[in-house]
Amino acid sequence: MNFRDSEDAHCGAPPGGLFRAIQNSHPLPLSVVFVLTDACHLACPHCYNASAPAGRGSLSTGAIFDILDQLAAAGTLHLAFTGGEPCLHPDFDDILRGALKRRFAVTVKTSGPARCIERLTDWRAWGLARVDCSLYSAEPSHHDRFVGRPSAFVDTVAFMRRFVALGGRARVGIVVMDWNAGEVSKLIDVCEDNGLEWAVDLRVSPGLDGNMGPCGLRADEAALEAVLADRRLRKGSGTVDRTPLPADTIVCGAGRDTACIRPDGEVWPCLTLPLSMGNLRDRTWTEIMASPVRQRVSSLRWGDQQGCVDCAVSWACRRCPADAFQETGDLNAVCAIDCLLARLQARERGDK
Ligand code: SF4
Ligand code: SF4
Repeated sequence: MNFRDSEDAHCGAPPGGLFRAIQNSHPLPLSVVFVLTDACHLACPHCYNASAPAGRGSLSTGAIFDILDQLAAAGTLHLAFTGGEPCLHPDFDDILRGALKRRFAVTVKTSGPARCIERLTDWRAWGLARVDCSLYSAEPSHHDRFVGRPSAFVDTVAFMRRFVALGGRARVGIVVMDWNAGEVSKLIDVCEDNGLEWAVDLRVSPGLDGNMGPCGLRADEAALEAVLADRRLRKGSGTVDRTPLPADTIVCGAGRDTACIRPDGEVWPCLTLPLSMGNLRDRTWTEIMASPVRQRVSSLRWGDQQGCVDCAVSWACRRCPADAFQETGDLNAVCAIDCLLARLQARERGDK
């Protein structure tokens, strides 16, 4: 997977509303991303996870159930199962059912493999409400070529349509790259024609192993500007608050509102921030949540980066410490992509 919610800086956590209000008075992350496996049957060139068919070492299913118990006791409300391809985990159905029995709200982030479509009826019956899948082009052959699998587009759309027909919600993640930027509007049409929700991610992140290759797929300024011209990308309406962000504004939800469990039990502040806060093989969730790394990441403030305090477009900025860390080794560095996206968002909202 290489998709993050673009409409909210707190990637991985459901944005806004009641969830935000509860999180503000809860000391531990309400939303946890659980990477069940690195194994994947696709070969997307932009994947930050460096997923591979074989995958890497994973927790035992018994250990995963123990972790789910710990998360429930710690007040976690939302779980996102992802990968790689989470459905390739040999015990995926047991894990999903176990999570739903523990009354977590669950999102499954999947490519919608054809072999899983018959399992959707059970997943819905157990209480799964939402699946997220990625599509990269409205033209099936372009999508299939990019992910390296014939019929992937048809399989994914059929998977999501079936889930919607069963009463669930299916959302398409659209990562904008140089090669597909011109196809985004058409892809949104396809989503809407098929009753699918959609969200656009304008970033491509570096690989978690430090590989900067995926960033070579980023769309350039003109292409991103053309994507943003589609007014369907404009969330909300009315007056835009252009007040520069105060220096003590929390940068994002990494470690604070969300955390990520890796297949080997490592816990990171978020899906794309490879800083170990501890390992669930030898420490409890509560102990890991007290780690100095979590304290450091969750206390990052806008004013920690000098250029950002006086920035005229900070109100439009989704600065990402994970990308900064991956690109420069410094959580507080400014990435050119952050500034470019903020400038474009501000311009699209009427700034010069
Ligand atoms: S646009 Fe750049 S300088 Fe301005 S707040 Fe964002 S990261 Fe900082
Ligand atoms: S570090 Fe970046 S990807 Fe992670 S939660 Fe913050 S903004 Fe989102």
